[in-house]
Amino acid sequence: MSIKKTAVVTGAAGFLGSHLSDRLLGEGYKVVGLDNLLTGNLRNIAHLGNNPDFDFVQHDVTKFIDLPGPVNLIFHFASPASPIDYLQLPIQTLKVGSLGTHNALGLAKAKQATLLMASTSETYGDPLVHPQKETYWGNVNPVGPRGVYDEAKRFAEAMTMGYHRAHGLDTKIVRIFNTYGPRMRLEDGRVVPAFIGQALQGQPLTVFGDGSQTRSFCYVSDLIDGIFRLSQSDYHEPVNIGNPAEMTVIEFAEKILRITGSDSKIDFRPLPVDDPKVRQPDITLARKILGWEPKVSFEEGIVNTVAYFKDFLALNA
Ligand code: NAD
Ligand code: UDP
Repeated sequence: MSIKKTAVVTGAAGFLGSHLSDRLLGEGYKVVGLDNLLTGNLRNIAHLGNNPDFDFVQHDVTKFIDLPGPVNLIFHFASPASPIDYLQLPIQTLKVGSLGTHNALGLAKAKQATLLMASTSETYGDPLVHPQKETYWGNVNPVGPRGVYDEAKRFAEAMTMGYHRAHGLDTKIVRIFNTYGPRMRLEDGRVVPAFIGQALQGQPLTVFGDGSQTRSFCYVSDLIDGIFRLSQSDYHEPVNIGNPAEMTVIEFAEKILRITGSDSKIDFRPLPVDDPKVRQPDITLARKILGWEPKVSFEEGIVNTVAYFKDFLALNA
């Protein structure tokens, strides 16, 4: 009888952590999910409640992580992730990126486990190079409001490379670009749930600035596939995972209105401080070393996500 490997997912009750837990269970891992429910919700993992291979531990990973038994793979995903969340939770964001990453790396070292850290396209800040390649060092304002997230993630990357170089730990870093799908929080302020929620409820779509800033949206199943492949690779430097299909925010708003059939108006609001003007991943590296590229079309991904939010709104009416 083969013994199952154990994976630990920090941030398991969040949007990405819950999808990642599903994938790992599907790949035959036992999964231990850690989360303090700061921005996540137990409903995201409620369907795993009776799964004998899934354990949930409510724990703040900025505190020492004490887990019995062997651990083979750690995915460090705990962190507020939406601009509204990290602007409201600046200290928690800095602490989970620094102390939380230190504890997750400490656990990996103690267990001789592989650790994959969830980094972000925000490490490139408001980029002066477009599209963004992993070799670009970024243009981040360390003391602006977004600095609490960007610098925490940059520190987390540096700490992860430090453990790799100093302790020979097997580490990976994924730089995640805007990802969307079911289980996002309707009110987390990110543009996908914001516009879909507004369109479905007949409210005006709140476009920040003139809407000429660009983003590139990746569907969650594509992202999780890239991350799983990276976890099985022997590559240690950061890798971009995202969908290069780029559009302006105003184009995105128009597509949401068309797909939902909504007649909501567009309401222009001030652009948040340091909001990046452009963002598109260069995924040449992921294609080469992981044989990965996104497969789900924008239309298909948005239709699935709209269906999720329709059900959510109906249940919570
Ligand atoms: P999310 O808010 O849905 O999930 C984050 C989870 O981390 C939540 O469940 C939250 O309760 C938990 N958490 C926060 N602080 C914690 C702590 N101290 N201890 C334990 N748990 C804690 O966000 P998400 O979109 O799923 O993001 C997951 C990770 O991916 C984050 O690290 C984020 O920075 C990264 N990321 C996401 C995106 C994206 O587009 N979704 C883009 C770039 C990076
Ligand atoms: N945005 C917007 N209206 C909203 C929410 C976001 O116009 O209600 C814009 C935001 O200014 C940014 C883009 O949409 O340019 C993506 O924002 P999001 O919060 O999803 O994530 P970011 O990519 O900025 O981290």
